[in-house]
Amino acid sequence: MKKLVSAGEILVEIMAERIGQSFLEPGPLLGPYPSGAPAIFIGQAAALGQPAGLIGAVGDDDFGRLNIERLRTLGADVSAIAVHTGQATGTAFVTYRADASRHFVFNIANSASGLIETDTAATKLLASADHVHVMGSSLFSDRAIAVALSAIETVKAGGGTVSFDPNIRREIMQASGMRTALDHVLARADIFLPSGEELFLFSSAKDEKGAVDELLNRGLSCIVLKKGAAGATYHDRHGTVASPGFAVDEVDPTGAGDCFGAAFVSFWLRGAAPADAMRIANACGALAVTRKGPMEGIFPLEAVEAFIATGKNMQ
Ligand code: ATP
Ligand code: MG
Repeated sequence: MKKLVSAGEILVEIMAERIGQSFLEPGPLLGPYPSGAPAIFIGQAAALGQPAGLIGAVGDDDFGRLNIERLRTLGADVSAIAVHTGQATGTAFVTYRADASRHFVFNIANSASGLIETDTAATKLLASADHVHVMGSSLFSDRAIAVALSAIETVKAGGGTVSFDPNIRREIMQASGMRTALDHVLARADIFLPSGEELFLFSSAKDEKGAVDELLNRGLSCIVLKKGAAGATYHDRHGTVASPGFAVDEVDPTGAGDCFGAAFVSFWLRGAAPADAMRIANACGALAVTRKGPMEGIFPLEAVEAFIATGKNMQ
């Protein structure tokens, strides 16, 4: 089976317990939950049985251990996660507003995550990879950008493929080279996985069809537009496949896009028909939102298939 890798931020998420809770005053918190968009992605891919490994860095602390242990338990290759003594693992504090939007307080570039590099272990992992997945949020510093771009070059030089999820988090995407890097990654991608308005960051078109046509003409193999509870729409040169979402009770939306993307890319690598890859991806995205914490809603393939078969929420 094809091996996929990602590189980027590894962190713990700490969540405000109440909707609308402000971080300007003390209040109840939940967590720490293992997190970081590329970590969620690699964890979900591994849980589906795809060989998958992550390049990143944590501190020699409990938050780092929590992340490595979780990824290992899910079956991911953690050999290229560096552990830095004297550095704290990255953190994200998140609070949900009443309108369902999120407010984050991140510490990533100045945490152990900021020390990400293409070291010997990362080089070895990349040599065994058939596919690299890049998250826009992982382009959080010039150093992280260099790691992502070199991963793309290595995997492509070996005949591999690339997927790209913009996963825009404005709070952390302050690197001077970030915009250029986003365009650079898109130009090298086979699969593009934007969510909502992210489609229009890379196109001058005003509607979905116009943007999709423009981007497909630039060389993408396919575009999968994520639409939250409504599901997702797949586009390639041959046409469009709309795939509805599964009805679930959403308790925490964070991580849905990463779990969806991991499932879609894993099944694309297995040569699945777009409609089949989309069904599994929508199921993984739906399951992700049924648990508090971005990696708590990751399930193995058998459980995802059982969920699809019954159409019922998992207890
Ligand atoms: P993230 O917050 O992780 O960045 P995203 O914005 O990238 O998410 P979304 O469109 O919110 O992506 O969600 C990805 C997928 O997860 C959707 O396409 C859908 O399949 C599933 N999903 C998300 N929210 C729900 C929901 N409330 N009910 C059912 N499925 C959902
Ligand atoms: Mg996303």
